[in-house]
Amino acid sequence: MKRNVLIIGAGGVAHVAAHKCAQNNALLGDINIASRTLGKCQAIIDSIRQKGSMQQPGHLQAHALDAMDVDATSRLIEATGSRIVINVGSPFLNMSVLSACIRTGAAYLDTAIHEDPRKVCEPPPWYANYEWKRRQECKDARVTAVLGVGFDPGVVNAYARYAMDTRFDRVDSIDIIDINAGSHGRYFATNFDPEINFREFVSTAWSWENGEWKANAMFEHRKDWDMPMVGKQTTYLAGHDELHSMSHHLGVPNIRFWMGFSEHYINVFSVLKNLGLLSEQPVRTARGQEVVPLEVVKAVLPDPASLAPGYTGKTCIGDLVRGVKNGRPTEALLYNICDHKSCFEEVGSQAISYTAGVPVVAAAMLIADGSWDIGAMANVEELDPAPFIALMNRMGLVTRIRDAEGDRVLDPQEDAAQVPEARLSAAAR
Ligand code: NDP
Repeated sequence: MKRNVLIIGAGGVAHVAAHKCAQNNALLGDINIASRTLGKCQAIIDSIRQKGSMQQPGHLQAHALDAMDVDATSRLIEATGSRIVINVGSPFLNMSVLSACIRTGAAYLDTAIHEDPRKVCEPPPWYANYEWKRRQECKDARVTAVLGVGFDPGVVNAYARYAMDTRFDRVDSIDIIDINAGSHGRYFATNFDPEINFREFVSTAWSWENGEWKANAMFEHRKDWDMPMVGKQTTYLAGHDELHSMSHHLGVPNIRFWMGFSEHYINVFSVLKNLGLLSEQPVRTARGQEVVPLEVVKAVLPDPASLAPGYTGKTCIGDLVRGVKNGRPTEALLYNICDHKSCFEEVGSQAISYTAGVPVVAAAMLIADGSWDIGAMANVEELDPAPFIALMNRMGLVTRIRDAEGDRVLDPQEDAAQVPEARLSAAAR
């Protein structure tokens, strides 16, 4: 049984992850939080204490760390006795943190694909450029590494796998739909790290169509959806991490990611992009100073964590899965609704950070109790989705299903009692 957690990063997602670890410290043990800025880790600890989030008295400590430094990260893992590392720092850190985990034997979790700061939109599948190259190393070292276990990527991968296991003989398409129908009241802000947010959309929007990668321009394809709770919403086809593993593992010919954008976001984004302010390549100012435009834009925009206090409205993120069951066309929407205000009341965060921070801690708990401690590298769709969905239902992220039977909470245990395939799938586990 693995215990003691090291959280890397002290941003919005780390804030939620730390609160959720604290709420489950009977299973997870010691909690250590490490980031470049010690004060940010300490602020998270203060918030945990102020909210009374600790399930039981236990160890909670802040550390200053440059997680690009593999030696320093390995030393901290050893010194804190951490057996599980939750990497929710910037995606530029993934490879160095993974190296430290392989060196020390600690389990590794992250919520986004590794990125090289000087490269945008590398060839698909993106996991093959970095993470998957280290699969054998993880296997040899018996290191559990669960990749991309936020909401998207993460929960949406589990939804796809669960739907395929229990509801379909053949799946023809998976449309992942991500709607934030909330309002933060600022002129312009991104809901997570602006640098990472813009990097997602400045280049080719890859989609998986008829079993092949298709290159689309951003904002080229628009689609309106009628979603539960948030109603009719406009989305655009975008590239996203989960397509790069789901296309590889699931054998589904069409997998697309649709993200909701307001006209205002598109206008501001287009102006910034057309001016060259979203470039990841350095430029030199008249005074001879070298700056990366994208980093400057990040520096002047609101810190996503600061949006939480006034945020209202809900997110709705899910998978619309279409295929065939018993010779008949079938579809199911597996989804979650998350309320910004409720997240703030519980842990002091907005829903985007919450929906990413809860799943990564649920995954850590499944590693701690052994269910997901596989001693190898895996994307979420390769793992048993039922205990993950069941655990998140108890942790504040409730899964619902809308299909021909209606719209209801999806409890994998109850589902197994009613749906023969869910029972068979559960028995096979
Ligand atoms: P933030 O930008 O708020 O936080 C990133 C943190 O990483 C900061 O605290 C920063 O340090 C820390 N960091 C950066 N470089 C280093 C370094 N060299 N050493 C140590 N710490 C470092 O990001 P978010 O919390 O919004 O997002 C965190 C991760 O979650 C990102 O990878 C993001 O892409 C992902 N994400 C995933 C989602 C999903 O659903 N899958 C949804 C939302 C986000 P400091 O502040 O101390 O200077």
